Amino acid sequence: MAEHPIRPEIAALPSYRAGQRAPEGAHKLSSNENPYPPLPSVVAAIAEAAQHVNRYPDPAATALVAAIAARFDVSPDNVALSTGSVALCQHIVSAVAGPGDDVVFGWPSFEAYPIVTGIAGARVVAVPLAEGWRQDMAATAQAVGPHTTCVFVCSPNNPTGTVVSHADVVRLLEVLPSRVVVVIDEAYVEFVDDPEAVRGIELFRADPRVVVLRTFSKAYGLAGLRVGFALAHPTLAEAIRKTTTPFAVSVVAQEAAIASLAAEDELAVRVEQLRAERTQVLDALTEQGWEVPAAQGNFVWLPTGPRTDDVAASLRESGLVVRAFAGAGLRVSVATPDAHTVLTEALRNWAPRVGS
Ligand SMILES: *Cc1c(COP(=O)(O)O)cnc(C)c1O
Repeated sequence: MAEHPIRPEIAALPSYRAGQRAPEGAHKLSSNENPYPPLPSVVAAIAEAAQHVNRYPDPAATALVAAIAARFDVSPDNVALSTGSVALCQHIVSAVAGPGDDVVFGWPSFEAYPIVTGIAGARVVAVPLAEGWRQDMAATAQAVGPHTTCVFVCSPNNPTGTVVSHADVVRLLEVLPSRVVVVIDEAYVEFVDDPEAVRGIELFRADPRVVVLRTFSKAYGLAGLRVGFALAHPTLAEAIRKTTTPFAVSVVAQEAAIASLAAEDELAVRVEQLRAERTQVLDALTEQGWEVPAAQGNFVWLPTGPRTDDVAASLRESGLVVRAFAGAGLRVSVATPDAHTVLTEALRNWAPRVGS
């Protein structure tokens, strides 16, 4: 019998569940990807970078860091990069939490948070969401104890799509001790149109405890290339860089991200289209009687409760792959009008009767 010396914290971890692969011809609405192919200018940058993959990338990603610093009006010292912001979640937690420390977040939320906490050997403190599927900021503050070193605020929250208000995060920061790092995960911020929503970068500028996570995977449409960044106080950004695998972000990913920042106006048109699609889907579902929370990301949350697995199986029959959270609900990515026509038709059979 094999007896590998696997740490008990690792053996106990659930395996990360990626969005299901879509069968041929099905609509993949399970991973919150951008349905549009990369822009021609980005494809050109990728093709050009491909000529140089015999060389290691610039380990400091100097040009991309400079482009991000210029875009967000921060110092290059504030920027830490990695292979998607999911990797940055892990780097941050391993930089600030270990055995004996607590990491606090709302639940359900991004499935990576408990995993990266477990890898660090720290303790998960999962705070149930409040009414309306929002992160409960009062309960989050109360869950912070003497061993807490890190709090995640996910806005919009994956999988429920809700944002927390700027005022609520300001209040949270007022009551937290100075040693606690607050990570504001803004993976979907480009899709937000609620004026009350937290503005992470503003808080990062004012408070050395605040880290903002951004990604090129969602609005920028580079999920397959793996690149995201953190904006943090220089000391914290340096600690994050130290925990990152050397040469993590490839030559191709660095060049594609630079080209994407240069094409933001073009990308913004697509984001606007997806927001308009989101409104259409929300309206159609609300009309069917679904109580869908205000979606602020590129996905909607369908509270299907105990029927979740049955509804997911039925959608699959109709050619739609969505992400099921057993016993709670379905997360459905906003995509193309075609997919939404199929979706609203398929859901009609399952719609809760209005008034029942
Ligand atoms: C998608 C997502 C990320 C990061 O994705 P990457 O592809 O790793 O950049 C981070 N946080 C949340 C909440 C997400 O949904």
